[in-house]
Amino acid sequence: MNFNEYPVDSLMYITNRPDIVFTHGKGSWLYDNTGKRYLDFIQGWAVNSLGHCNEGMIEALDKQARTLINPSPAFYNAPMAQLAGLLTANSCFDKVFFANSGAEANEGAIKLARKWDKKFRNGAYEIITFDHSFHGRTIATMSASGKAGWDTIYAPQVPGFPKADLNDIASVETLINEKTVAVMLEPIQGEGGVIPATREFMQQLRTLTKKHNLLLIVDEVQSGCGRAGTLFAYELSDIEPDIMTLGKGIGGGVPLAALLSKANVACFEAGDQGGTYNGNPLMTAVGYSVISQLVAPGFLESVREKGKYLKQELLKLSEERGFKGERGEGLLRALLLDSDKGLQIVQKARLMQPNGLLLNAARPNLLRFMPALNVTKDEIDQMMSMLRSVLDSL
Ligand SMILES: *Cc1c(COP(=O)(O)O)cnc(C)c1O
Repeated sequence: MNFNEYPVDSLMYITNRPDIVFTHGKGSWLYDNTGKRYLDFIQGWAVNSLGHCNEGMIEALDKQARTLINPSPAFYNAPMAQLAGLLTANSCFDKVFFANSGAEANEGAIKLARKWDKKFRNGAYEIITFDHSFHGRTIATMSASGKAGWDTIYAPQVPGFPKADLNDIASVETLINEKTVAVMLEPIQGEGGVIPATREFMQQLRTLTKKHNLLLIVDEVQSGCGRAGTLFAYELSDIEPDIMTLGKGIGGGVPLAALLSKANVACFEAGDQGGTYNGNPLMTAVGYSVISQLVAPGFLESVREKGKYLKQELLKLSEERGFKGERGEGLLRALLLDSDKGLQIVQKARLMQPNGLLLNAARPNLLRFMPALNVTKDEIDQMMSMLRSVLDSL
């Protein structure tokens, strides 16, 4: 197979992509059009929680495709109810709305917060978010994000998202006024470079939001669904948020996301919220398979164990090479480099022969690791050894 056989020029340009086409995958491995294989520590951007082409997901997809694909969101279907029940049984939340992407789930969270205030308070609409945060690529979620340059790229922004500094409670407190309805954050900033909110900060936020009768919204699109070693990252801080959004890992690779809330916050009225594919049985059946596998006895414990192992191996490497350590939770981790060579490492790792390695540099001075949650210790060892050869070749 030749790369020129693929009409990639018909695709709208959005980013630089290498001249390869991925053709198939299994577990932690991806294969391209030349037959070369790659150890995948990106996994669709922390999306393929169970690796490529997981058997349970395939079975669920196949069975559901033969049973019912889409009765319309105006009617109940069995997988949508079953997955909602599984999520409420395994979280502090009572109500679930399904969406197709993380950004859409966050749009829902923003709407729900504004609606809640209109209904129960006096129409406040400001949601305090954080510098370096990432909440999606719709106009509102880009406005909520604290990514450099995003305030001007599609100006004007949607107003109402003042930015505070992560892990600095005073910076949040000074932004609170009569227009404030909520505080929204990623318990671990993913795109920002794997920066965890501290347990102390999460608890301070919960106390502060309760004191001012504000909602606490956690965007767990990246940190949720087992990624942090617990089913949801908010559990690490022993707090209960009012609203949570999920995406990425919940679908294990298929487009599925969710907006969850406490019963007293779930105040949408008929017609306030919806969407053509929301809660479609094909995707929710896959989500049910994914979450069932994550909550199976011993699974999350194994994620924590492998997270610890990866952490220890990254620290060893950091000491060996004079890097600046590592950070993260579970299997969402970052290695802090000693210079801005992240992109160069990513490039060289992919081009390595005979096998490539897929890594991500969320920022130029660090590498982000987001392997499948069922990655093996042996695969972590292979990744470390491949990474060492790349570093040797620089
Ligand atoms: C990826 C991500 C999103 C956006 O999800 P999409 O499915 O790409 O819309 C939102 N929030 C966080 C924390 C993310 O990592």
